[in-house]
Amino acid sequence: MAVDRDLPCSIVDVIEILGIPVIRNTGTQLYCRCPFCDDRSAHFNVKVADDVFRCHRCGRGGGVLHLYSLYHNVSLRTAGDELRSLFSNGARAERSLRANSPEVQIIASEEMQVASSAERDSTYTNLLSMLTLADTHREALRKRGLSDEEIDQLGYRTTPAVRTKRIVAELQERGCKLAGVPGFYCDRETGGWLFATPSSGIMCPDRNSKGEIEAIQVRLDNPQKGKFRNLTSSEKYYGTSAHCCPHFVGVDESLSSVYLTEGVMKSDVAFCLSKRLGMRIGFVGLTGVSNKSQLQRALQELREFGISRIVMAFDSDFKVKPNVAEARNYAINEVIAQGFEIVPLSWDQGVKGIDDLFLSFVLKKS
Ligand SMILES: [Zn+2]
Repeated sequence: MAVDRDLPCSIVDVIEILGIPVIRNTGTQLYCRCPFCDDRSAHFNVKVADDVFRCHRCGRGGGVLHLYSLYHNVSLRTAGDELRSLFSNGARAERSLRANSPEVQIIASEEMQVASSAERDSTYTNLLSMLTLADTHREALRKRGLSDEEIDQLGYRTTPAVRTKRIVAELQERGCKLAGVPGFYCDRETGGWLFATPSSGIMCPDRNSKGEIEAIQVRLDNPQKGKFRNLTSSEKYYGTSAHCCPHFVGVDESLSSVYLTEGVMKSDVAFCLSKRLGMRIGFVGLTGVSNKSQLQRALQELREFGISRIVMAFDSDFKVKPNVAEARNYAINEVIAQGFEIVPLSWDQGVKGIDDLFLSFVLKKS
């Protein structure tokens, strides 16, 4: 963008002279109504320090020259000439937008909007369909007690290490939305979409009460802080942070009670093993044990399913870890306060999770 560098104006100056409505100004970013599409909200995002814009609705984006040339339908060269003459006397436009100007109408307060659960589900379902599960990962899942058939049904996949550009191209060909889907972000130079490859591990789809994949948890091969990491692109250019949901497995209207536990893989494994034991149990795994809003969402959805009893099946380490104990106590109090019947389960500390407990039963049986 060397051609932009000697321009006498910034992208904010050009937004002002074009009269593009600014909906929100964070000081470093502007959220505007897009002049190029039928945007009724604030999809047109401007990164002030980088002098770049992108509309998350129509996908148009670029630098100062692109904005002016698109708006007036002139070539980049003409855009440069006209901007130089407009700002020739050094009189740059008022920088009112740089400070939080009182004229700026504030109607939105969220950051980059995450795509809807249906859109994320479509993109993630397509993404997982292009990947495979490595033999080492299949073997690790067998060790947790799963059969090959169960492993295939869960749809777990190994994180891709190569050919992610081809995966992105294929997703776009299939019409999948990438803007606002955690894990995807933009290339700073070309504006093209990229996939933020996570550290290697097993990708586990985090499904909501309707079965939609809202997020993906990765069971890391080399755990650092914690064994699981959510698929995210929050640190990236036009990326999105992960939005996990309470993970539902085997829950339907025929049940009156469910087991509440933590994590996607734990609930999936426990569900498969409980079936093997001839039990009919539904599980909800919270993806983040101290995530209070997620617990609220889970309880509300369970009530809609007609569930009246909740079996608390948190890891046994609550007996030795104060933060886990605190989260468990909060959940117990909340479950009771909301009128559910509660059954707090606990078991020997040598057995960590509900999945390990059921595995020990399965092994005893065989
Ligand atoms: Zn647009």
